[in-house]
Amino acid sequence: MEEEKFATIIVGAGPAGSTAAYLLAKEGLDVLLIEKGATPGSKNMFGGRMYSHALHKIIPNFWEEAPVERPVVKETITMMNGSRSVSMDFQEVKWGTPPYHSLTLLRADFDAWLAAKAEEAGAMVACGIRVDDLIRENGRVVGIQAGEDRMLADVVIAADGVNSLIAQKAGLGKKFSPKQVATGIKQVIQLSEETISQRFQLSGNQGAAQLFVGDCTKGMHGGGFLYTNKSSISLGLVVTAGALQHSQYKIIDLMEDFKENPHIAPLIEGGEIVEHSAHLVPEAGLNMMPQLFGDGILVAGDAAGFVLNLGYIVRGVDFAIASGEAAAKAVLAARANNNFSRQGLSTYQQLLKESFVMKELVAYRQAPQFMANPRMFTSYPQLVTGLMGKMFTVDGGPPVRLLGKVFSQIKQSKIGLTQLAVDGLKGARLL
Ligand SMILES: Cc1cc2nc3c(=O)[nH]c(=O)nc-3n(C[C@H](O)[C@H](O)[C@H](O)COP(=O)(O)OP(=O)(O)OC[C@H]3O[C@@H](n4cnc5c(N)ncnc54)[C@H](O)[C@@H]3O)c2cc1C
Repeated sequence: MEEEKFATIIVGAGPAGSTAAYLLAKEGLDVLLIEKGATPGSKNMFGGRMYSHALHKIIPNFWEEAPVERPVVKETITMMNGSRSVSMDFQEVKWGTPPYHSLTLLRADFDAWLAAKAEEAGAMVACGIRVDDLIRENGRVVGIQAGEDRMLADVVIAADGVNSLIAQKAGLGKKFSPKQVATGIKQVIQLSEETISQRFQLSGNQGAAQLFVGDCTKGMHGGGFLYTNKSSISLGLVVTAGALQHSQYKIIDLMEDFKENPHIAPLIEGGEIVEHSAHLVPEAGLNMMPQLFGDGILVAGDAAGFVLNLGYIVRGVDFAIASGEAAAKAVLAARANNNFSRQGLSTYQQLLKESFVMKELVAYRQAPQFMANPRMFTSYPQLVTGLMGKMFTVDGGPPVRLLGKVFSQIKQSKIGLTQLAVDGLKGARLL
């Protein structure tokens, strides 16, 4: 391929890139989607579930054809402290019927399907090619360079994920600090469908999602996750890279400890590890957002830092899909005006502002700072598990009423009532 020209070149066949490619190809544009992995999704991982709304809008009832695993009907948050744990469950059985609220997925299958949809719509999908640089003319991005190959385009969309090389090459990306990203590790553990349904008290195709906080990260900023697939469990940990760097732990050792934890081991007992992966997560929201567009270039998905982690909810895929959609619409608007300059592509910003992407990132902009509060990962799990321990222990000792138990546990946790009230109010306001 030498100096071939496309209407749009998209770098990265994750959810952001494939969505943009699908929508542009559907409009008849000459689109090239370039992926460095041998197949789309082969290099990708995530915790395990996608909220359906964004893709349902683009491909109605996509679950009828996409390789989805289970619709999540059961949400659990677990605080862990040594031999103790406290869990809170929420169940909505309606989420087990269409339109499914969220679905567990395996990225190798799902990303390959979405890229194939783009290909079916007319996009050219080139895998096993790593884009190394951008081609510029008079300061404007006019194409990409991959090894010796040079390809031209009216617009390049950087959908190359967290730590985007393309956004950096375009001078749009900021260097992020280790505090702004987390390291994620995950294993897919195979078990029979019946075993999974029995262990998580699910029926039919129902699925479960569980988040863990406390000593699974040895008190470091982060948490654990578990998602049920049809016949496997996605289990993993996410720990802020900065915290990990300054600790004595390696993420792989934390993962081994996590699997041996008495609250986890019975859930995966007898399972076989069929996949192991690690990946960075952009965690700082708006604070790590690059410039979203420049002359001849747009930045979408994780490359733009579009991930929302509220502690009880982790979302990136629906943000990637919606930003891929906004990028496609911005390209079409620029094309209508034959203006691919920064100004011509600026509709992208407006489209994002009108969508949930910017609305939610702005609304929850202080969530990352709140989540960095070390008490969330140490004192609070100790406080809650300690209090429950006191409530349920019967040992013939002197009777203490509930209020007394609460105060004695708060005293023991060394948090202080004022601090507790401040943290509670802040959490309710910011999350
Ligand atoms: C541990 C972990 C848990 C998560 N859990 C969830 C969850 O449960 N739910 C959720 O919604 N989100 C979750 N996320 C976030 C979610 O995975 C991302 O937000 C989402 O994948 C972003 O999609 P994307 O298309 O922007 O980028 P990616 O999915 O990262 O895709 C980028 C693509 O670009 C390719 N690429 C990169 N560089 C180049 C190059 N130079 N040339 C060619 N190709 C290139 C990559 O191979 C990749 O295919 C999690 C993330 C992690 C790491």
